[in-house]
Amino acid sequence: MKKLSQSKALIRKKAAGLCLEKHCRRKARKQRTRCNTCASRRWRAANPIHYLWINLRHHAKQRGHAFTITRAEWAAFCKRTKYHEEKGRDPDSLTVERKNENQGYHFWNITVLRHAENRRRSYVKYFAHAGIDYAKEPWENPL
Ligand SMILES: [Zn+2]
Repeated sequence: MKKLSQSKALIRKKAAGLCLEKHCRRKARKQRTRCNTCASRRWRAANPIHYLWINLRHHAKQRGHAFTITRAEWAAFCKRTKYHEEKGRDPDSLTVERKNENQGYHFWNITVLRHAENRRRSYVKYFAHAGIDYAKEPWENPL
């Protein structure tokens, strides 16, 4: 019974030119069955590795870093490191790290690093720059 009512809703949405995705009320694209938002969400879900590659390339360009990683190289990187499965915002999630920070995103220059470790490295660099010895107690340093 439920399936019948669902397909009725689909028929109604189709006739009205609306996106066929569940709970979506936007208009479908011309000659298409889904709206832009739902279509790109479906594409991202179906092609997570390709999506992450585009994302990384985009952000590299935004930050003015060179980017020469091909799609095949990126796929191999993800397969080896499981980056696409463990990436995220938690301290334990993986990030893409450039081994040599003076070089851009090249296949030989990227590796994975946990978020926490990536943050720690940037702090260590900051304290070293400020003349603070990380090995000493806080009150033993000038500031
Ligand atoms: Zn939609």
